[in-house]
Amino acid sequence: MDERQGAGQDRFRDPLVSLYEMAAEDIYVVCPRCGHRAINAARPTADKRVPSWPRRLSCTRCAYSASWSPRGSRESCWGGPVDPFFGLPLWLTVQCCGGKTLWALNRTHLDLLQEYVGARLRERGPQPGGMTLVARLPNWLKAAGNRDEVLRAISRLRASVD
Ligand SMILES: [Zn+2]
Repeated sequence: MDERQGAGQDRFRDPLVSLYEMAAEDIYVVCPRCGHRAINAARPTADKRVPSWPRRLSCTRCAYSASWSPRGSRESCWGGPVDPFFGLPLWLTVQCCGGKTLWALNRTHLDLLQEYVGARLRERGPQPGGMTLVARLPNWLKAAGNRDEVLRAISRLRASVD
């Protein structure tokens, strides 16, 4: 992903990552006990599929912790403002654009959204098989008329994890 950094702000090229790949990093969730920010960390295994990795939830505020493993767990639900493993609300969610919910799993996800929304020129990458995270973004988030409001919302989210 680093080669994108020096490419300038105007042009965005789809890095062809999926939401699953974003989940390889820590996911910020709302702690079910104290309501502050908790971390859902991946525990990578030899399996290449990120959704099959065990997860560990921990809150530094109240010391709450929990584990998740794919075996015997309910079906994960991806693609909304809820942590797909523990089913907890994501920390990085904000209302914008007339009641729409902007959400992100983590900083890397936020970076990608900011680069995409802020770019004047968006290049579609080749579309191999599955849909990329960028290809799945909702239309309201892609609309030029919403750009400034979405970027402000992203800034607010970023401030909550810096
Ligand atoms: Zn807590």
